[in-house]
Amino acid sequence: MDDQQTNPTTPPLETPPTSEQPKKAVQKIGKIVVDRELCIGAASCLALAANTFELDEENKAIVKNPKGDSDEDIHAAAVSCPTNAIFLYDEKGNQIYPAPQ
Ligand code: SF4
Repeated sequence: MDDQQTNPTTPPLETPPTSEQPKKAVQKIGKIVVDRELCIGAASCLALAANTFELDEENKAIVKNPKGDSDEDIHAAAVSCPTNAIFLYDEKGNQIYPAPQ
């Protein structure tokens, strides 16, 4: 018996489910900095922005291509960092993330 069968009484969804990452507008990223002292090599940034970040031989994240992923994905990668080691700046050099106090 297949428990996963669609219930025929369930109305179809009118809109597709939203993706896990809400499509919030993020500021255009001009510069990405990884604080090597803070980076613990958890690699969640790589999972979310694999074309932007990579781990070096010391297991620290480095920026391999600052335009490797969308600004949204790079922002999500910064947010995912457990130690807030990723700093994002706009094109004028103003810090975007972590949000300045
Ligand atoms: S998520 Fe943060 S701690 Fe993990 S590798 Fe990337 S920068 Fe380093």
